[in-house]
Amino acid sequence: MKSIAIIGAGISGLYLANLLEKNKSYSYKIFEKKPSLDLSDGYGIQLSVNSINLLNKTGFQKMNARDVYFPKKVNFFDAKVLKKICDIDLSQFNFENNRYTTLKRSKLIEFLLSNIPKEKINFNSDLVDIKQHQKLNLFFRDNHKEEFDYIVAADGVYSRTKEILFKKEGLPKYFNSIALRGNIHNFKDLDISLYLGPNFHFVIYPINQNNEFNFISIIRKELIESEISNRNLFNDESFTNKLMKQISSKSNLNLTEIVKDIKCFPIFVSKKIQIPSYKNIFLTGDAFFSFPPSFAQGASQSIEAAHDIFNDLIDNSSNYYKKRVLKTKQINSRSSTNHFAFHLANPLNVFFRNIFLKYLSKNRKFLENYLGKIYKN
Ligand SMILES: Cc1cc2nc3c(=O)[nH]c(=O)nc-3n(C[C@H](O)[C@H](O)[C@H](O)COP(=O)(O)OP(=O)(O)OC[C@H]3O[C@@H](n4cnc5c(N)ncnc54)[C@H](O)[C@@H]3O)c2cc1C
Repeated sequence: MKSIAIIGAGISGLYLANLLEKNKSYSYKIFEKKPSLDLSDGYGIQLSVNSINLLNKTGFQKMNARDVYFPKKVNFFDAKVLKKICDIDLSQFNFENNRYTTLKRSKLIEFLLSNIPKEKINFNSDLVDIKQHQKLNLFFRDNHKEEFDYIVAADGVYSRTKEILFKKEGLPKYFNSIALRGNIHNFKDLDISLYLGPNFHFVIYPINQNNEFNFISIIRKELIESEISNRNLFNDESFTNKLMKQISSKSNLNLTEIVKDIKCFPIFVSKKIQIPSYKNIFLTGDAFFSFPPSFAQGASQSIEAAHDIFNDLIDNSSNYYKKRVLKTKQINSRSSTNHFAFHLANPLNVFFRNIFLKYLSKNRKFLENYLGKIYKN
């Protein structure tokens, strides 16, 4: 039986393990550098129907109904005056049990873990090198070594596997933006609310049936090299508070009052699409490509990619990268377009953007092409 090493116990790695558990054609092990997975964090994630369709194949629809939410619309607002610009009906892309879903990321991880035997996950296993002999030899920080037929690199945006394969070129680049995350209790709007401001946007959405909401803001911010690499800066409360005050002053929503547990981190994206020369190494999820976070597809694509790898392994079809490159280009261009349009600052540009948004949000042909194409896998 051929063996697979899955590097990283994130969304992509764990979903692939769920598929491998259902079809025992391969043996596998997961290597995770952290000592454990945090199942307490309250931050949210949006999953569109393409990934819900795939998750349902592993029993996701049986999740406790109180732990998920099914938003029907995205409502666009002007962040300053809170006036509604337009809305997009997300439910038009739902089919049968596959509905646009929001939930806590930790609940998704908990679900994915529930189908994987404990002994298959090796914690404190930080991959540091790979060498190809007859098989693929993996070297870990604690000096232990193992060999496998395949590697699936699911080690996220700062993928060590990618760095080993492509050296400096494999590292992501700073996206001149910072993310602020937080939790809100009892927000007034039960759908996805997207607030657009000059050089920032923020999104608030329910993450379960208990009146808990996720807050996420993307703020344009140029930083110098030493600031980007200074992890302490992003843990510094005064830096986070300053950013929060900055967007609060540009919105009539009392953000500093309502948003709790705020965390801040820099956004990194992939420089370009890279395909390993080894046929038995698969890059998946953020390790394959990290998108600007303005299209809410990162997690969904991590799931889709893991599913495509599974199909490739079962059918021996070698279609994986061809399919992924196409989808990645489609999503990357939409994410970049959204990011640009959401952050417009000049009032005249904002005026015309809002007219476009009103028109496009009700144009079925456009929506089918812009969203439908991505949501159908
Ligand atoms: C601000 C923000 C908001 C987002 N919101 C959404 C959203 O609403 N919807 C959505 O679909 N996506 C969203 N995303 C994107 C989404 O979170 C990611 O795309 C997704 O988590 C990627 O999954 P992954 O499995 O590829 O990597 P991850 O989930 O990051 O997992 C990688 C794992 O690999 C481990 N690892 C790293 N290095 C090593 C090593 N050397 N050895 C062993 N293990 C290692 C890590 O510890 C980690 O557990 C957002 C992203 C950001 C930045």
